[in-house]
Amino acid sequence: MRSEQSGFLWGNTEFRHETANAFRLILRGFLAPAAVYYSIIFVLHFFYESGHGLLYLTGLSGTTAVAAILVYWLLRKPSVSLVRVELYSLAIYALIFANILVHHLVHLEVTKLVYFALLTMVVAATGVTLRIVIPVATLSLVTAILLAGQQGPETQAQLAFIAFASSFVATGVAGLMRAAINKEIRARMKVEQMHEAARKAAEIDFLTGLPNRRSFFSRLEARFADAGQGSHLALGLIDLNGFKHINDLYGHVFGDQLLKKVGQRLAEASAGTALVARLGGDEFALLIEQPVSDAALRALGNRICAAVGGTVEIEGSEIAVAAAVGFARRLAHTAEPQMLYEYADFALYRSKHVGGGTVVVFTAEDEAQIDAIKNVEHHLCVGKLDAEMHVEYQPQVLVAENRVVGFEALARWQSPTLGTVAPDVFIRAAERCGVMNRITPILLRKALAEARQWPKDMRLSFNLSARDVVSPESIEQICQVVVESGFAGDRIDFEITETSIMTDFERVRDSLARLRDLGTHIALDDFGVGYSNFQHLDELAIDTLKIDRRFVRNLGSPANPGRVVKTMIEMCTNLGLTCIVEGVETAAELSAVTTAGGAIVQGYHFSRPMRADRVPAFLDRAHFDPGELRDIA
Ligand code: C2E
Ligand code: CA
Ligand code: CA
Repeated sequence: MRSEQSGFLWGNTEFRHETANAFRLILRGFLAPAAVYYSIIFVLHFFYESGHGLLYLTGLSGTTAVAAILVYWLLRKPSVSLVRVELYSLAIYALIFANILVHHLVHLEVTKLVYFALLTMVVAATGVTLRIVIPVATLSLVTAILLAGQQGPETQAQLAFIAFASSFVATGVAGLMRAAINKEIRARMKVEQMHEAARKAAEIDFLTGLPNRRSFFSRLEARFADAGQGSHLALGLIDLNGFKHINDLYGHVFGDQLLKKVGQRLAEASAGTALVARLGGDEFALLIEQPVSDAALRALGNRICAAVGGTVEIEGSEIAVAAAVGFARRLAHTAEPQMLYEYADFALYRSKHVGGGTVVVFTAEDEAQIDAIKNVEHHLCVGKLDAEMHVEYQPQVLVAENRVVGFEALARWQSPTLGTVAPDVFIRAAERCGVMNRITPILLRKALAEARQWPKDMRLSFNLSARDVVSPESIEQICQVVVESGFAGDRIDFEITETSIMTDFERVRDSLARLRDLGTHIALDDFGVGYSNFQHLDELAIDTLKIDRRFVRNLGSPANPGRVVKTMIEMCTNLGLTCIVEGVETAAELSAVTTAGGAIVQGYHFSRPMRADRVPAFLDRAHFDPGELRDIA
């Protein structure tokens, strides 16, 4: 077992290298005093020797001293190979051997033969491998015994005894020292292997086996810094449509298996072209390090969509998956890796928006749009929002009674620099740059103050963003504003979207419970656009559904006979929910909604959103002549 292990170790170049390095140091430790010793001997010979003896002995000791210094110098670097260490040591042992032998031949001193035994000890202690130690030790002992034989059998027997004792000690020393050195080397190699494994593990996504976010970005940064190659970088981002939904519906084990499959397919589809990594969740990334055209990126994207999209079979179930893919190429002015990532992310966002596995490559127009968004974000951060923002109100009409029952508050922003900014644009920007928690209380305070002037039976609908409902602090602030306003909580409907529910279900549930403590109602906005998970209706105790305006478009025409709206209205009735149909623009649409079962209706047909000061007049007209309601627009 032990020899097997050491056999395995000797086959290992790293082990050989470590051994060479260990003995390199030991040998140097011996060479330094040896050089000093032979230098002194060299000088002493001039005092004690003469004739041929002087010539041979000074020649040999001088050469040995110089050789010791030379080898000491040659072994200064740790990169030296094992064979080299062996050869250098062999040369030194040979010189020492020659010193002892010649000294003996010149003087025929028996006592000096003991030096052969000393050489054996030195070789045992400093010899790198047994193939050096055994021959040199044997040679010097046998030489000593043979030379002692010339002095008679008694001397030979004595020397043989010394030789036997010294080889015994030498073997012991050599064995113990080598065992200690091997053990040390093995332990160090093990630690290094563990380090290496840990380093690899920190760079690999354990689920898919692909490089993880960290290693992807360090690679991206390294390539970016590399001026020559880095200029040809392209970055792709891939996201699975509806993955979160699949995860929620089928469980995490199922979701994990799906991600594994997708990772495999991605790696296959882009093999040889791009580095594939998993950034987290269902987000994957590609790094392309050679020059590519937009057309080539699109072709790669389509290949990926074809490979990833379609059905995946997991545990006998077939699941439909579709990928969204966004690419961005490094442009001359793309200053940082993060910028390239943002561009690809923007392309991905657009791809998701279009849907159906569309590949989007980031363009110069996109860049202009990003700049515009950044500009909006900047002005949101520096603007005096309390003064610049106001609220407009759009009436909600109970068609069966032709009566206004409430108004939806809609945010408006008049920036002194940017002019009027559409709410879709600034709300999204505010969510992104984290100022939503400033905006919501401002708008709510204004809306509640204005709504206090309305008749007591009039309700107020107020939109909450995803950022509001996932933040306990924001919800507390909102509650405080409601309480301070003196407006009855049960006259408020907070509108939330399904997308915000999906962000963090647990938190949203807690937030809604907190709002409901004030008596407020909760409406699910834009129903039918997102995941339309009916379970949410119950779990979140939703009071009202707002049917999105895309179901209303051309209602009553052959293209939209209204079956969907009718079903949704019926469903609301069955579930005991209030139903608001949004975006009713024409009389034809209104009458189709009425036929479909009626409900509360909101839309341009009744009125566009209006400033607070126009609300009383609007209500007066609506109250005095309900029949006229349809003509107000
Ligand atoms: P939303 O909550 O779906 O608001 C309804 C939008 O539909 C409003 O757009 C409204 O003007 C528009 N609309 C109403 N009737 C019709 C119609 O008959 N036809 C058409 N085509 N559109 C109609 P607006 O005011 O531009 O707001 C857009 C979105 O911005 C809102 O969609 C909402 O998501 C968000 N938003 C507006 N105000 C706020 C706010 O105070 N807070 C938050 N978080 N979001 C807000
Ligand atoms: Ca709304
Ligand atoms: Ca809506």
